[in-house]
Amino acid sequence: VKDTKTALVTGANKGIGFAIAQGLGTLGYTVAVGARDDGRRADAVEKLRAEGIDAFGVALDVTSDESVAAAAAAIERLDVLVNNAGIGGRADDGAQDPTTLDLGVVRTVLDTNVFGVVRVTNAMLPLLHRAPAPRIVNVSSNMGSLTLRTGPIMAAYAPSKSMLNSLTVQYARRLAETNILVNACCPGYVATDFTGHNSTRTPREGAAIAIRLATLPDDGPRGGFFDDAGVVAW
Ligand code: NDP
Repeated sequence: VKDTKTALVTGANKGIGFAIAQGLGTLGYTVAVGARDDGRRADAVEKLRAEGIDAFGVALDVTSDESVAAAAAAIERLDVLVNNAGIGGRADDGAQDPTTLDLGVVRTVLDTNVFGVVRVTNAMLPLLHRAPAPRIVNVSSNMGSLTLRTGPIMAAYAPSKSMLNSLTVQYARRLAETNILVNACCPGYVATDFTGHNSTRTPREGAAIAIRLATLPDDGPRGGFFDDAGVVAW
């Protein structure tokens, strides 16, 4: 088993996930680049290695039990899990209108944003339990805040992030007697494919809060929801 800490980032081939992998790699973590597409994963690993980061690819589709089980079997050591992979549901498929929402869209979004997190987390917990200071970071969104009601109506996506926040609390309570810290974060509105690059906020800026929660000291918060400014309202 290696002595450098290893971090697995899901959906690490692009966007905020790639920037989280880059940031943790720069801090000295070995980075497991979780990505479902072979070509996109290889490209991301190559880019990180070119920056001097110790990165390796892990085939990972968070919607597949088999893929997640194989990913867990391929990783020797795990200190940090960042559940970043997420989808919004396309604007043209009714995902923005609860009054005409297709349940298939809800299922698809939940399968990635919520069930995917449960699948990956549960598969990785045996590895995390063996680490000296394990951290789990769930990349959520302030659109999942029941208090803020921010952004456009996204009838499947916003509830998926509310549920992810709720799951974060349940995991943190269950793991309260362990050294595993579980928290959720909002990266802010970031220029990625997800937002059509319609923002001046960079993936690197968006990644900062996830990196902070991934590197918390042992007495850090448990079961919280944070952005750059601090606590986000549930
Ligand atoms: P991108 O669309 O740029 O990247 C999403 C990543 O998730 C891609 O790597 C994608 O892989 C991966 N992914 C999607 N589905 C799966 C799957 N089934 N298995 C494995 N990987 C998958 O989005 P962002 O970087 O913007 O978003 C990252 C996270 O940040 C998401 O959880 C999002 O909800 C959250 N977020 C983003 C905000 C923003 O403003 N951008 C704001 C608030 C939260 P592939 O390339 O194969 O599709």
